Amino acid sequence: MLNSKIINWYEFNKRDLPWRNTSDPYKIWISEIMLQQTQVVTVVDYYLRFINSFPSISALASANEQEVLNHWQGLGYYSRARNLHSAAKSIKDNYKGVFPDSFDEIIKLKGIGVYTASAISAFAFHLPYAAVDGNVYRVLSRLFGVSESTSSPKGKKEFQALADELMADAPPHIYNQAIIEFGALQCTAKNPDCEVCPLQAQCFAYINKQQDVLPAKKKKVKVIDRFFYYLYIYNDTRFLLQQRGERDIWRNLFEFPLIEADNKIELVDLINSEAWETLLKDIKVEVTERKITKTHKLSHQNLHIEFVHVRIENYEFEKFKSLISVDKEVAMNYPMPKPIEMYLAGK
Ligand code: SF4
Repeated sequence: MLNSKIINWYEFNKRDLPWRNTSDPYKIWISEIMLQQTQVVTVVDYYLRFINSFPSISALASANEQEVLNHWQGLGYYSRARNLHSAAKSIKDNYKGVFPDSFDEIIKLKGIGVYTASAISAFAFHLPYAAVDGNVYRVLSRLFGVSESTSSPKGKKEFQALADELMADAPPHIYNQAIIEFGALQCTAKNPDCEVCPLQAQCFAYINKQQDVLPAKKKKVKVIDRFFYYLYIYNDTRFLLQQRGERDIWRNLFEFPLIEADNKIELVDLINSEAWETLLKDIKVEVTERKITKTHKLSHQNLHIEFVHVRIENYEFEKFKSLISVDKEVAMNYPMPKPIEMYLAGK
């Protein structure tokens, strides 16, 4: 049976990851959400810190949003943290604080889709749900020679049926871990290790030399360029922050006052811009430094970021009514977008 070959491979090759040593649905849930857009090596430390600070559903539900976001700082895609927090409150209110134990209830929680509901159902409750993430999709596509993409409903259905069939009556918690790990370590996107693969004899892609063709490539999404000019307005002990709004990237996170331009502009044009004038009207300033950083890439946006240092006198801080004057010592308590956090850490 193909599934027992995958499970045997797993027993010899699996990594020792902290969320694999538990059947607590809460911990499995946290790990699955963190792993959605982040690599395993990065997640381990974040996961341990998060579980340490919020060891239970009730601890997470009682925390305030800023605390939760602070633990997410650097992982990106902050809506994941907000959804976790909101779902924890809903478990507390609607399920007496006990994680629901059926797929149909799990999938109702905020931020949980078919894959995550299947994974939690299988890992924590040993229910017969085959989880199809990017790793599983790649393995199935190559193994069975399926060129349909998972972005279409037809493709999703086809891969789900294949995954269910392959799992058959194997123990769901082991089989799912095994095939996900197999995709992550053996049947990798680039250079799959076919020469020592236990599925070689049955693998369509190997037999037909189609490893580079399968799975079908996703259509490229249009990426836009944005030009951010951050003003680090400071003196010896303090600097200014503002909170981002609801409708853009980095929702509600804290950042330096920002001037966004339609394209790259020179410092002199920035200083003469209307936005600069509005922000720094009647303030005595000294521009001390300008730093251009690497382009920060998000899934649909390239952010070209520059930091301009603007020194002001202590008494001037009071004039910025809508901005927050922050003590440098405690600035890291504010959840911030990664480029700001990295910038401050490197200062
Ligand atoms: S033979 Fe190669 S392509 Fe096929 S399952 Fe194994 S690693 Fe993947």
